[in-house]
Amino acid sequence: MSDDAFRGVFVTGTDTGVGKTVVSAALVAALRGHHRVRYWKPIQTGIEHDNDTETVRVLGACVPADIYDAGVRLLQPVSPHLAARAAGQAIDLDDLVTLASAQPPGEFWVVEGAGGALVPVNGRDLMIDLIARLGVPAVVVARSSLGTINHTLLTLDALRRRSVGIAGVVMVGEPNGDNRESIERYGDVRVIGELPLLRPLTPESLHRATESWTLASLEPGSSSPQPPAPSPEPRPSSLASRDAAVVWHPYTQMLTRPAPLPIVRGEGVYLYTDDGRRLLDGTSSWWVNIHGHSHPVLNAALAEQAARFEHVVFANCTHEPAVALAERLLALAPRGLSRVFYSDNGSTAVEVAMKMALQYWANRGATRRTFITLHHAYHGDTVGAMSASELSLFTRPFAPLLFDVARAHAPYCYRCPVGLTRDRCHVECALAGPSGPAPLRADETLEALLERHAGDTVAVLIEPMLQGAGGMIVWPREYLAHVRALCDRYDTLMIADEVLTGFGRTGRMFACEHAAVSPDILCLSKALTAGYLPLGATLATDAIYEAFLSADRGRTFFHGHSFPANPLACAVALASLDLLRDTAALDRVAGIERQLADGLTPLLSLPTVGDVRVIGGVGIVELVADKETKAAGGYLDDIGPRLSAEFIRRGLLLRPLGNVIYIMPPFVITDDELQWTIAQVRDVVSALTPS
Ligand SMILES: *Cc1c(COP(=O)(O)O)cnc(C)c1O
Repeated sequence: MSDDAFRGVFVTGTDTGVGKTVVSAALVAALRGHHRVRYWKPIQTGIEHDNDTETVRVLGACVPADIYDAGVRLLQPVSPHLAARAAGQAIDLDDLVTLASAQPPGEFWVVEGAGGALVPVNGRDLMIDLIARLGVPAVVVARSSLGTINHTLLTLDALRRRSVGIAGVVMVGEPNGDNRESIERYGDVRVIGELPLLRPLTPESLHRATESWTLASLEPGSSSPQPPAPSPEPRPSSLASRDAAVVWHPYTQMLTRPAPLPIVRGEGVYLYTDDGRRLLDGTSSWWVNIHGHSHPVLNAALAEQAARFEHVVFANCTHEPAVALAERLLALAPRGLSRVFYSDNGSTAVEVAMKMALQYWANRGATRRTFITLHHAYHGDTVGAMSASELSLFTRPFAPLLFDVARAHAPYCYRCPVGLTRDRCHVECALAGPSGPAPLRADETLEALLERHAGDTVAVLIEPMLQGAGGMIVWPREYLAHVRALCDRYDTLMIADEVLTGFGRTGRMFACEHAAVSPDILCLSKALTAGYLPLGATLATDAIYEAFLSADRGRTFFHGHSFPANPLACAVALASLDLLRDTAALDRVAGIERQLADGLTPLLSLPTVGDVRVIGGVGIVELVADKETKAAGGYLDDIGPRLSAEFIRRGLLLRPLGNVIYIMPPFVITDDELQWTIAQVRDVVSALTPS
């Protein structure tokens, strides 16, 4: 939220009953200058016994128009989340933020919280989340008596972790110079006032008591509260121009790119820019996010591990997060996998798998050279993973460096490689001999290639069920079953690259489950850490692991990076697995799948939509220039960036892959948010006309 929309301070306390209301009244009265000062209590509990609004009206000598009454009013004198639950209500921070932002600019607000900064307001958010969302600095009201140093420093620390500015502390009760000095020193904060017990408590006695307060930093119009609040976020123009001067972005033509989006905050499915825009993260930040942004549970897991230790060499040390994560992954993964090798990201997880497979054969005395991969594959950007990927514009500059692989047909049913249609085929694209109508190009089927390279195939490397970057191609599960059976028949290894599909994205924990198959090697990354930190994991069977056990040092798997099994990443991964279980995330993905199918399938009637595909939490719309020929050229050339710009204008972050638009939201997206997202895609696609 920008400063002009809503300005003021948020009065919070180190505890409930510390005197926030009297301090708020004092602030309203003292700050009333030539700017209009208004008071708001967004959440009032215990309305029968307490009426803070009335107290402020009397003590602050307010006229009714100075008091803003809207918000949540609850009967029970308990924590907001309990009071709301008792009243059958749910407190929605969005509603409160909307109320605030609807106020005319130019006013200065004294907003009073309920309880302390870390009281829950609903099943997900704390009061501190509301403070952060309103974007105003906090005044912390503390007791002056014993125990206050601890409570106050904890509150200040929590506020700073959320990047809330701190305008100062007010100490209530018998003045205590030692405590005041300690709070200022250790809390790096200014005590802007002290408020002794007043008898009688009247507007006049309150006015006298607050005459000595140093409120200059709070005055409407004063730019920065004292001491300066942390995280002064750069203004939009300055961040974009600083970026333009020093940063080189991935997959980006820096000469012609549009200005990057300056993101300052994330929460749930939303990202916020520093110029106040809100964007729904429709592709999970390049497919990594599953539980939403800045999730309190994951934040806590990360902070806890950071407070213990952040990293240690993993060649000859071990630690609880790495061991516990390996145990959990193996318990969840398809049967037969029994070892976890950690690396840094998706590409390295694949690179490790390929090297592991190659050396597996070498350690057994066999020389094998050929990897079989699929057309439309994407396995990463390091040289090995890139060699395994489909040749494309993206790999062309590196062609001299790439090694040869054998590329088999992918089961891309909308553009069937052997000229069949799904309703009448038996996945002939996998098999060597024709069954039924004679398939075209039968010599490029997986079985044909396995036959040709019999005895020389290191492994068959695939993205099970959903080929991602190569065009969001959804498989019939029969193809996946064939891959496993064929690898067995031709005595080679099956490597499943589940960097994208792992952790529920296709509706199962792992995509291999769709055909109940177990690979020999499984590659994981992306959602492994719920989008928090880079981490790769390559899982292998006993048979593979044992081929490396030897008195001969030459059989060791000589591969490693600086950051394998990073403890921070492992700790977040463990917390993410807990969340997947505790939030019944796979049920949620099933709901997303139904809604995507219902919402996107009708688009097939549009002249520009060739295919609609849905699997789990991914909905895909393939645009064509001509439905008859399925030609993707013409007006579709370069359509991705144009669509992307239009979606961003509408508040939706999508990055179409050329002519393929897809929605892949974090699992925490609500039905309404998903409905809105689908509507944006429908509206934008409906406006396209084939030329
Ligand atoms: C993204 C991706 C990779 C590469 O992962 P990075 O972390 O980007 O290196 C590998 N395989 C698949 C299937 C992917 O989607």
